[in-house]
Amino acid sequence: MKEGIHPAYSDIKVTCSCGATFATGSTLGKDLHLDICYKCHPFYTGTQRIVDTSGRVDRFKKRYAKRGAANNTASGDDEAGDNK
Ligand SMILES: [Zn+2]
Repeated sequence: MKEGIHPAYSDIKVTCSCGATFATGSTLGKDLHLDICYKCHPFYTGTQRIVDTSGRVDRFKKRYAKRGAANNTASGDDEAGDNK
């Protein structure tokens, strides 16, 4: 290798939100945190599950629960007050 042009390559520890950890080599220089890894990704587990990393599913449900309630009281023919 040519001297002086390559970043430092070292072992880092990778931690997933599912709790799995493993070591890998990287030029990142610090430990890494993942939302999903090979132990919990549906492609590898063969099971279907919702990956909800930051409450996005809850926010969606909350928003559309509110929308449904508003439509019930306003006979469901407009989208007033729901322009977010
Ligand atoms: Zn994982």
